[in-house]
Amino acid sequence: MTQSGGYIPTHTTNVPDERGYYGDFGGRYVPETLIPALDDLVIAYREAMADPAFQGRLADLQKNYTGRPTPITYAERLSEHLGGARIYLKREDLAHTGAHKINNALGQALLAQRMGKRRVVAETGAGQHGVASATVSALLGLECHVYMGSVDMARQEPNVFRMKLLGAEVIPVESGSKTLKDAINEAIRDWVTNVNATFYLLGSALGPHPYPMMVRDFQSVIGIEARGQMLDRTGRLPDVCIACVGGGSNAIGLFHAFRDDEQVELIGVEAGGHGIAGGEHAARFADLSISRPGVLHGTRSFVMQNADGQIMNTHSISAGLDYASVGPEHAYLRQQERAYYTFATDEEALTALQTLSRMEGIIPALESAHAVAEAIKRAPTLPKDSIMLVNLSGRGDKDLNTVIGALA
Ligand SMILES: *Cc1c(COP(=O)(O)O)cnc(C)c1O
Repeated sequence: MTQSGGYIPTHTTNVPDERGYYGDFGGRYVPETLIPALDDLVIAYREAMADPAFQGRLADLQKNYTGRPTPITYAERLSEHLGGARIYLKREDLAHTGAHKINNALGQALLAQRMGKRRVVAETGAGQHGVASATVSALLGLECHVYMGSVDMARQEPNVFRMKLLGAEVIPVESGSKTLKDAINEAIRDWVTNVNATFYLLGSALGPHPYPMMVRDFQSVIGIEARGQMLDRTGRLPDVCIACVGGGSNAIGLFHAFRDDEQVELIGVEAGGHGIAGGEHAARFADLSISRPGVLHGTRSFVMQNADGQIMNTHSISAGLDYASVGPEHAYLRQQERAYYTFATDEEALTALQTLSRMEGIIPALESAHAVAEAIKRAPTLPKDSIMLVNLSGRGDKDLNTVIGALA
């Protein structure tokens, strides 16, 4: 298997089961009318993955459109400055459109095309998944409709304009808090109404089965490449892999290839926002006073909710981590103690963003800066011959206004 080529993991996993469960988590909590569409999707997905022509087309576009494989960069100055583990960065920031989201959008759009569905609906919060969906829809000649909360549209005007330039229709959502969770509700509603002609292009390792599995598999190219690259570069596997966790797609994409390497520690970093104590964060695994198993947007996982089960408002400086639930496979990996979850606050992420910018000439996305913050905390505690791999999920250009505001 070449690094830029096939991307199906070579090892076996026992999850999800036939019904889409990862232990106690996952499943399909959707209106009855969507079940046949989800069943069709499972079949089409399995057929596509077993078809060398589909795999070949995906591998070709990953290489010649997205620019894969993305490199691994040794963060030499940062590592020396911290005086502990050697830190390597997986450079998803260098993928087309500046983040890992394109990996999944490309896979799903090819699947939509294969299923003969020319109409794509997507949801977006900050606009990153909307831009990735609009991009691949333009590439493949699909009609793209993106639901976006009107509050988010005002906050993320450049991304709204990007989507429109790419030929997508952006539909403002005025219900609820007018942000991501409301946009997801509307996208699901659209899909229920237009299910025969429409493909729902979901942006993270969330939603009803088979989405968490499909998104994981399309993102697993990150870890498969990185595992091979680390073996080439350092002659061994990293001791620790670190990734930020919003819905969980870049993290599961990195972790998946290392899952059977029991000596490799897997660490997910959630958004600690203003700190755990005040409840203004999106650390679903850190604050069990307001987060517990529940159902949101078609899947069972940890959900931040009040005593009545109402979804809590979350906070993070990074829009991509600002969501009340988390992918079901992360809940499972945590329960199995195969992966560990921690958090970084807004302030720690901002500091990490500046540190990486100054020491390595790389401005990370605020989401990715949460993973970098954990690396900065942890590296000095590890011996100098240990190796840390950090997923740099995206570049920071999109966050400049937020950063300027926060540093003013
Ligand atoms: C959307 C986004 C994330 C968070 O999403 P996951 O599904 O958890 O990966 C992280 N980093 C960047 C750059 C993003 O755009």
